Amino acid sequence: MKDRGQDRMTCGVCVEPGTFALDLRARPQQAPAGHRLVDIAAIGICGTDFHIFEGKHPFLNYPRVIGHELSGYLADGPDAGRLVVVNPYLSCGSCRACRRGKPNCCRSIAVLGVHTDGGMCARIAVPEENLYPAEGLTPEQAAMVEFLAIGAHAVARSGCGAGDRVLVTGAGPIGLGTALFARIAGAEVHLMDLSTKRLAAATDLFGFAATHQPGDDILSGDLAEGFDVVFDATGNADAIEAGFPLVAHGGMTVLVSVVKESITFADSEFHKRESQIIGSRNALRADFDRVMAAIRAGEVATGALASAVVPLADLPTQFAALAHDRDHLIKVLVTP
Ligand SMILES: [Zn+2]
Ligand SMILES: [Zn+2]
Repeated sequence: MKDRGQDRMTCGVCVEPGTFALDLRARPQQAPAGHRLVDIAAIGICGTDFHIFEGKHPFLNYPRVIGHELSGYLADGPDAGRLVVVNPYLSCGSCRACRRGKPNCCRSIAVLGVHTDGGMCARIAVPEENLYPAEGLTPEQAAMVEFLAIGAHAVARSGCGAGDRVLVTGAGPIGLGTALFARIAGAEVHLMDLSTKRLAAATDLFGFAATHQPGDDILSGDLAEGFDVVFDATGNADAIEAGFPLVAHGGMTVLVSVVKESITFADSEFHKRESQIIGSRNALRADFDRVMAAIRAGEVATGALASAVVPLADLPTQFAALAHDRDHLIKVLVTP
């Protein structure tokens, strides 16, 4: 499918569960007030997109133009051509969380590409305050800032640093990002996953030597007292509950992934540790900035994170296979 001139553009659309297709839509010509037009450079695909494709995402209307991990170039104005990262979390600005500086957990948050049409297309209009300059990054690196910011936010929430021993359960992209930023913060980082393939990739590509599998006798030897922070990035309620006994006295659990089910724990175990359980949702501008600074400083092996780059035109024939193979991929990037 070819773009016809400048007034139409090709969009990647989840038409209904199980169907991903290209569709020609109007190309935005003028940004609404307070918005800027962004010519999309690269789009990351993540678990959320696969959930939308598989019909597993709650509160979502089809058809939906997906794409929330976005980089692009400002399309107009005096700084046209400047590379930016898109923060896809559209907050209301007026609820209690927004007023208190936490737009990442706005009561009526809308995420581009999830609750509203996203950026898997040539051009999109975005509120100006959601665009962050990305000088010094490549377009591909800039498209990976959002998913890394989720891990960076979780690490900031925990306050972990030098002298802390942390465990990240779930070595998918979000868990890897969390592990990378916990290490940058100075913590001793351990990773746990069911998949030996994922753990081997974490060791080979990112140098995480301390890896564990569920069921291992982890609390022995040097690790007998457990971990100061256990980050959960599994998206699995049983795994979250299995993580509670691994928390050291005085330590905490940070729930990075979200599950539908209730989770339970024994208060006596929780209480005797004087433990904390905190949630971590999305990310703040400070997290995006922290990620960009780390990438500029060469502290994130972004080349190893990008498993594949797929042109949008090829995505319809590949989407189902990518969804199927996602345990063997870290980050797939799409170019419009
Ligand atoms: Zn994502
Ligand atoms: Zn709000």
